Amino acid sequence: MSSTATDTTHKTGDEAETLTDGFHLVIDALKLNGINNVYGVPGIPITDLGRYMQAEGMRVFSFRHEQHAGYAAAIAGYLTQKPGICLTVSAPGFLNGLTALAHATTNCYPMILISGSSEREIVDLMQGDYEEMDQLAVAKTLCKAAYRVLHAADIGIGIARAIRAAVSGRPGGVYLDLPAKLLGQTMNAAKGAASLVKVIDAAPRQLPAPESVARALDVLKNAKRPLIILGKGAAYAQADDDIRALVETSGIPYLPMSMAKGLLPDTHPLSAGAARSLVLKEADVVMLIGARLNWLLSHGKGKTWGDKPKQFIQVDIEPKEMDSNVEIVAPVVGDIGSCVSAMLAGMGKKWSLPPTEWTQAVNSKCAENVTKMAPRLQNNNVPMDFHGALGALKRILADRPDVILVNEGANTLDFARSIIDMSKPRKRLDVGTWGVMGIGMGQAIGAAVETGLPVLAVEGDSAFGFSGMEIETICRYNLPICVVVFNNGGIYRGTDVNPTGGADVAPTVFVKDARYDKMMEAFGGVGVHATSPDELSRAVVAALESGKPTLVNAVIDEKAGTESGRIGNLNPQSVVAKKK
Ligand code: ADP
Ligand code: MG
Repeated sequence: MSSTATDTTHKTGDEAETLTDGFHLVIDALKLNGINNVYGVPGIPITDLGRYMQAEGMRVFSFRHEQHAGYAAAIAGYLTQKPGICLTVSAPGFLNGLTALAHATTNCYPMILISGSSEREIVDLMQGDYEEMDQLAVAKTLCKAAYRVLHAADIGIGIARAIRAAVSGRPGGVYLDLPAKLLGQTMNAAKGAASLVKVIDAAPRQLPAPESVARALDVLKNAKRPLIILGKGAAYAQADDDIRALVETSGIPYLPMSMAKGLLPDTHPLSAGAARSLVLKEADVVMLIGARLNWLLSHGKGKTWGDKPKQFIQVDIEPKEMDSNVEIVAPVVGDIGSCVSAMLAGMGKKWSLPPTEWTQAVNSKCAENVTKMAPRLQNNNVPMDFHGALGALKRILADRPDVILVNEGANTLDFARSIIDMSKPRKRLDVGTWGVMGIGMGQAIGAAVETGLPVLAVEGDSAFGFSGMEIETICRYNLPICVVVFNNGGIYRGTDVNPTGGADVAPTVFVKDARYDKMMEAFGGVGVHATSPDELSRAVVAALESGKPTLVNAVIDEKAGTESGRIGNLNPQSVVAKKK
């Protein structure tokens, strides 16, 4: 057992007693469990906690807004399988962090939101404390588990429970409430050290039942037009070699969900990425690995899936996920690493490949679509369109497989997802299950810190606005992040007009000719104004080479872009407006 971070000698009567306190027990408990990075915003009552953490060798990343610190922590959890830690102040700071906590839970990323809070005695009597709020009650519905620690002697257990809850089973967000008074509580240092808990086997393997593996292989074997769908759960599991071997041994075309891109390179001969509509419609057996049949897969039914009967196999750690939207004929419940290796073993040497009519049909559709797209990606139009600009970035990333791509926006997201190929696992970090805007700078910072690799954040101008102030954070920590703002002057497009002819611009329109690059210059980073794909290319190559914080304002035609990108169908329509 390591000694506690700070020992103060305190006289009680005749004897001298060595003391520790709540601050240092929190630090010691985190460090004991291998947690060294914290993302947050300082303030009452956790300002000193951040200072002491830094003094004890932890890395403390201070943000300008808690939401982005939370997104950094959430993506840190996804990338490392250790809970990312976000530290917030009471009430308003806590509430700002909650969006990210709920996001982590929804996306199955392990994260712990640790928040300072006001005193229980006053909060519970609603006597109006500074930033008074019953935070534990508020957090409960938005995370996997929520705990409060009232006694310094329970800090070790509290942190151990939070870690285990975050990473075991289906990962997710956990809330840990630390009232101000707890941090200052003292206790005997030796007893304090003994109270700490090192979590053993925080995410134990969960082996699938052999009969469920056999059942799944049986269904798969009899398929005429099988398809594998890989989701971000498969990427999270870090079973990369086995997943690749499973796909290759099976000979089955696969479709990666957006954050599973790169588990196998997008240029892999079995990738059905460029034939998405065809494979979803035509497949007769679909095996989901770490992907849910939610809205992103049209709930497994309807037009997207065509009218041919289908059977679903699902590999997931969460038993309740089975039959969530349609019947799952072969549920395989367990951790993906164990499930995939059991399936591989079950396939053995005698596995017969799927019918060639099917794999050839998929291949030729892919080739056809790729050929159709190619010339558009080469255009050097000024102002740029999405294809010209993204074609340039695609060519850069083909040579830089180490770069992590963060991506958000509407059209910027949709086009980048299909245009930019990924060739390594966990290199594409995007808006996730909610399709949420605002993850950009937080995820870019979390990814750069956790991996030490260069990050390219490709952002719509609207999406960038949610977290733009964090470029100061990027400059302050001198992180190797290049932000490209696809600036078409508005949400979806920059061309909407106010139908009344009044002075206010349309609700979807921003300031014309905005210069986001100047924001970066204000904090000492490199700002570039790029009006052509060539200029954009040069700026991004230079940024990735130098590792200097850079923002490229990429001017996109304000007429380019469609309403809500590819999910415009989710907008309700007004009957009244149509009548006018
Ligand atoms: P996508 O959005 O890429 O389709 P989802 O977030 O919908 O992916 O699905 C991820 C799924 O992966 C969740 O149902 C989750 O329970 C599951 N999952 C996460 N980690 C593991 C793991 N280690 N083993 C098995 N399943 C996992
Ligand atoms: Mg825009």
